[in-house]
Amino acid sequence: MKITSIEIKQYMIPLEPPFHASWDPTPRKKFGTTLVYVHTDEGITGIGSGDLMTGFAGHEHLFIGQDPFAIERHAQIIDNIDFHYGRCWPLDLALWDLMGKKTGMPVYKLLGGRSDRITAYASTGELVSPEVRAERAEAFVEQGFKAMKIRFHHKDPRQDIKVVEAVRRAVGDKLDIMVDANQGWKMPWDVERTWDVKMAYQVAKELEQLGVVWLEEPLPSHDFTGMAALRQKVGIRIAGGEMNREWHDFREMYRHGSLDVYQPDVALTGGITQIRKIADMVQMGGHWFTPHSWSNGIGFLANLHLSCGLSTCPYFEFPFDPPTWTPERRDFVQQEKVMIDRDGCLVLSDKPGLGFELDPEMLEKYEIKNAYIWGTD
Ligand SMILES: [Mg+2]
Repeated sequence: MKITSIEIKQYMIPLEPPFHASWDPTPRKKFGTTLVYVHTDEGITGIGSGDLMTGFAGHEHLFIGQDPFAIERHAQIIDNIDFHYGRCWPLDLALWDLMGKKTGMPVYKLLGGRSDRITAYASTGELVSPEVRAERAEAFVEQGFKAMKIRFHHKDPRQDIKVVEAVRRAVGDKLDIMVDANQGWKMPWDVERTWDVKMAYQVAKELEQLGVVWLEEPLPSHDFTGMAALRQKVGIRIAGGEMNREWHDFREMYRHGSLDVYQPDVALTGGITQIRKIADMVQMGGHWFTPHSWSNGIGFLANLHLSCGLSTCPYFEFPFDPPTWTPERRDFVQQEKVMIDRDGCLVLSDKPGLGFELDPEMLEKYEIKNAYIWGTD
């Protein structure tokens, strides 16, 4: 089988009502998805998504005529393009989808086949009052969720801690609770300083008292020694790595003992091909591997396949904060919208590849012709 062409198309839906992402000062009124199609001489097409494919233009010839199964070679080239021009890891996901379709196997089985299911945690994205967050947490319990993640972003973290207290009061021990401090990286407009080790320590001690499972990104993503020092001082698990750009970062975090929970996202860093090696490394060290999955429905599925394939971590991120962040929005290009089952698990099917089918009507309706790079607003 040989690759004959690579196509990149972009789609965007309006968000009404808008989604108030905690990390954005302006509400998001649109949501875009970029799809990478890898066509072959056998008529099979692999599809990937989850990032913009910035930097790919002009490099298609490096893949045309190649065997899609030469995945280590392809990942090396995507890594080289990433270094010089920008991230193109959805191409790696499309190649895994293709390998699955050719062999008739779901990707998670090609990656180890540890399980077809994993417990979801509802990963919220909006800053809301303690009362509203507690109500939404009660709704999660009714829907079958076993865990949820609360995002911090107030100027004073004591306000965020009040939200965790309200949720704990409302749901007791019916939900495991994670907290995302979101101090790891900045958006283009962010100029405020992030937490230091002392601030992170104070918050971590409070969250320990509330029985929180992990504290995510309490410090900048490059502060390997700060995270290691914090981790030594507190009982709560420290999580991070969702936006680290280089696989070497994970080797260094591992070497420094920075984290208990490693969260590289296959759509944003390293693809499935490189991140599976990081997963092996951290798990052999006794740590948890559970990827970030907040991109779109296909990026989410790719991370889920890798987790089901090899992860021993009991949780997986399910981006979900209704009414404004829902499977209908997240998975808008897909026919089937992914939801948990009654036990709070995400279950993969035996469909080959990444196991999704595109919705032709939605693609037709929402394609942006001649798109180059779309904004979020
Ligand atoms: Mg996060």
